[in-house]
Amino acid sequence: MRITLMKCLVCGSEKIIIRPTKMSDFLVARIFGDEEAAKEHPVNLCHCEECSFSFYDRRLTDDESGRLYEEYRRDEYQKIRERYDCWYTKKVNDALNHEKVALSEQKRIIMKIIRENVPVDIKVALDYGGNCGETFTEQIGTDEKYVYDISGVDINAEGIKRITDYKELLHRQFDFIMCNMTLEHISWPKEFMKLLYDIGMDKTYYYLEVPCENPFERDKFSLMKNLKLFFNPLYGKVRLVKHYFNLKKQPYMPMSEHINFFTPKALRMLVSCCGFDVIDVQENYEKSVLGKNNDVVSGVSEK
Ligand SMILES: [Zn+2]
Repeated sequence: MRITLMKCLVCGSEKIIIRPTKMSDFLVARIFGDEEAAKEHPVNLCHCEECSFSFYDRRLTDDESGRLYEEYRRDEYQKIRERYDCWYTKKVNDALNHEKVALSEQKRIIMKIIRENVPVDIKVALDYGGNCGETFTEQIGTDEKYVYDISGVDINAEGIKRITDYKELLHRQFDFIMCNMTLEHISWPKEFMKLLYDIGMDKTYYYLEVPCENPFERDKFSLMKNLKLFFNPLYGKVRLVKHYFNLKKQPYMPMSEHINFFTPKALRMLVSCCGFDVIDVQENYEKSVLGKNNDVVSGVSEK
């Protein structure tokens, strides 16, 4: 490990350790095309010793993020992904797109944390980046439910309204704003938090959810730890073995869709650095169709 001059994107500390790696072939192919994927694109994986936030020092521009997430998990995406990540078959992609287990688990955790930390009725609620509004429960937004999403997917649940213009959010009054599984993909997390902050009013409650990940913990990718995957019928066993051999040949954790990695401590730091009052941050486990439990960090805060 080396020392870098990079500062922590969350707390600003200069106590950063790094591991040199590269952009994953999939990421390069998706953003720049297959020809570029043959070349090396070195980056550093960074870890803040103060707040335990981890991130890559190469950030994606809006254009690059746009290309990565355009038509996300549709046919073209799946084909490119399988070309570089052999385990990512159509069957896996379909299962992820119709992930009922993870969705009900996610709602279970959201409701548990709301019961413990939000003492008021949530009448008007917003899901920021909420896709088609599938994460709402009956209790969230009893009068009005809104989704802010610019991806253009259809909203398939009754009573949920879509907002596509950020400026419109500033004129509304929300009791509760949630943002799930987004911050791990965002190039500039503090600027993103400012967008969320500006929408809320005095006493708006916020719920943020991210995967709990620390790429600097030991044995993250040990075969023993991932052995359960071999008993999941979704995966081809030959492909899984090939995948582990490929991982051995590559530098550690090439940069892919997650460009930020949060622990409970890191999420707490981000939220408080951005002016919110932190009420609670928890780590929970959710079952998922992919066979491994999702380790999730959730934070509730108030403006
Ligand atoms: Zn930090």
